[in-house]
Amino acid sequence: MIIIRFGFLFFIFSLAVLSLTAQSFGGNPAPASVTWKQINTDRVRVIFPEGLDSQANRIANVTKLLGEITAKTIGGRQDKWNIILQNQTTIPNAYVRLAPVMSEFYMTPGQNSFSNGSLRWDDNLAIHENRHMQQFSNFNKGFTKVFSFFLGQEGQLLANGITVPDYFLKVMQCGRNHWLVYMGVAVCLPFIMLINLSGWLEKNIPG
Ligand SMILES: [Zn+2]
Repeated sequence: MIIIRFGFLFFIFSLAVLSLTAQSFGGNPAPASVTWKQINTDRVRVIFPEGLDSQANRIANVTKLLGEITAKTIGGRQDKWNIILQNQTTIPNAYVRLAPVMSEFYMTPGQNSFSNGSLRWDDNLAIHENRHMQQFSNFNKGFTKVFSFFLGQEGQLLANGITVPDYFLKVMQCGRNHWLVYMGVAVCLPFIMLINLSGWLEKNIPG
């Protein structure tokens, strides 16, 4: 009887098509031939393909700087984030996520230089995505904390998704980035008198 049962199970499993794949690295997997390096500081870990050393260094420095001068405007926290630089992409974009804590920057800028603005593409990504890192770092309070206690980072994502509308994340983003990078003159006149970050970065961040 046991033999028949095992035989039956073996038959069932032999019909199943199981595929095993290696763990993909990020949402946009680069070829396995890419050699990855990292800059690992107490504030950020930038993971990048060989050859992007200077950009990775700059992104690590910009992220650290933004944590020091702007995190206080949203609650004071900027958790350490993993940032992966992908240089074999064609769509200019980036994202920040939890579970796991990571961000990917797609380093190829858009082809239309008129839509890129006056900033370097990597600065643009670092400044924009950094605000999302700060949002996730600070939106883990009150009732959200109950969700994250039971479900970890997935719980925080769920609670944030229920309570914080997407437009709020973006509007908050635009507000800070306007005053950081000297855009939106009419909107943010008091702020541009305080700081012009793009010029400040050129002077203070090497690379
Ligand atoms: Zn965004």
